[in-house]
Amino acid sequence: MSANQYDAIVVGARCAGSPVAMLLARKGYKVLAVDRATFPSDTISTHLIHPQGMTALRKWGLYDAVAGTNCPPIDTYAFDFGPVTITGSPGTPEERVSYSPRRTVLDKILVDAAANAGAEIREAFTVEEIVADDGRVTGIRGHDRGGTTVTERARVVIGADGRHSTVARAVKPQQYNERPEVESSYYSYWSDLPMNGRSENFIRGDRGFAAWPTNDGLTLLIMGWPISQFEENRKDIEGTFMKGLELAPEFAERVRNAKREHRFVGAKVPNYFRKPFGAGWALVGDAGYNKDFITAQGISDAFRDAELCSNALHEWFSGGRDFDTVMGEYQKTRDEQVLPTFGFTLQIASFEPPPPEQQALMAAMVGNQEAMDGFVRTFAGATSPAEFFSEENVQRIFAAAGR
Ligand SMILES: Cc1cc2nc3c(=O)[nH]c(=O)nc-3n(C[C@H](O)[C@H](O)[C@H](O)COP(=O)(O)OP(=O)(O)OC[C@H]3O[C@@H](n4cnc5c(N)ncnc54)[C@H](O)[C@@H]3O)c2cc1C
Repeated sequence: MSANQYDAIVVGARCAGSPVAMLLARKGYKVLAVDRATFPSDTISTHLIHPQGMTALRKWGLYDAVAGTNCPPIDTYAFDFGPVTITGSPGTPEERVSYSPRRTVLDKILVDAAANAGAEIREAFTVEEIVADDGRVTGIRGHDRGGTTVTERARVVIGADGRHSTVARAVKPQQYNERPEVESSYYSYWSDLPMNGRSENFIRGDRGFAAWPTNDGLTLLIMGWPISQFEENRKDIEGTFMKGLELAPEFAERVRNAKREHRFVGAKVPNYFRKPFGAGWALVGDAGYNKDFITAQGISDAFRDAELCSNALHEWFSGGRDFDTVMGEYQKTRDEQVLPTFGFTLQIASFEPPPPEQQALMAAMVGNQEAMDGFVRTFAGATSPAEFFSEENVQRIFAAAGR
């Protein structure tokens, strides 16, 4: 038993957990962050961070640490639909590029930043139980690598423990906007597949595949298909993958001339929103909200949650405002920011052919750089789909194309 009393205990110390621990520690709070993993370590993710996520890293003083690893900037996303290709910039004048640092690299930078800010970090510590008194969460119980059971207490326990969150399982938050898995994807890393600062995306029938550069001269290549094909295709991942690439023969040739350096890794994920707070607890990152990874926004979403949640808790800790009010504002802001992208992401992940009017819009965009940049920024989460696909913007694009 430990007699420590923390302001906050954070369960999980990756993209959501380390930043929320760091931000609270920087405000002077006593924070413990625990993770069953040790760092550096890998986790399933294709780790593309759009410019919006890079903005958070810049604000936190971590941009150079991430950009300074041997991970090249990505300034262009190309979406090759077969008949048309939309090529644009995901960035804004302030934040021009994306990066895709390996999680071994990124998560280590984040966890070190939390430690440097004064948070106590306990790696190889597994939380088994959430401790509650009179219906209010008051701490965690878990064990270290040696198996010693420890109980720690805090004013708030923050679940940053991902899709299989122990905290969420214990507190049973209200779930809404739930959708089952829509697609499944597999990825691996190739050497000798140069990308020249580009993310290339191919959409061909019920296959979508994409490639972009990461650390150590490697290129990540991911392919997805509808969830209905999950069981059949998992019997032969490599065969399915290589056959799918043939739908874009020039790209397939480039991959054949490259060398795969890792095993294939795959995932399918459910889609949900969870109420991210209750008596003595909060949720950030995938523990509180998850959508299909096809638009690669989970890391940027986790960064946004860390910022919103730490600000809300600061308002409560500092005595100014009531917990339910500030955390209600956190939930409202999160939901308003992600809801439009949630629907857009699930539409893409369905691999259904776009309706004819959307196909016409794509064709009208070709050659119109402003429109193509707008589409790419929508994919990257910087522009709301509601804004990009508004009647007014669509008419403007058609008019510019003389239609
Ligand atoms: C195939 C795939 C591809 C993806 N690609 C991208 C992409 O390109 N770009 C992007 O932005 N997002 C991507 N995502 C999503 C992104 O990876 C997640 O949104 C992000 O990792 C969420 O961070 P998190 O900190 O909430 O959770 P996680 O990264 O899952 O971290 C949770 C941590 O909690 C710890 N933990 C869990 N339970 C316990 C416990 N009981 N005790 C102690 N520790 C515990 C785990 O060890 C883990 O370290 C992808 C996801 C998948 C599945």
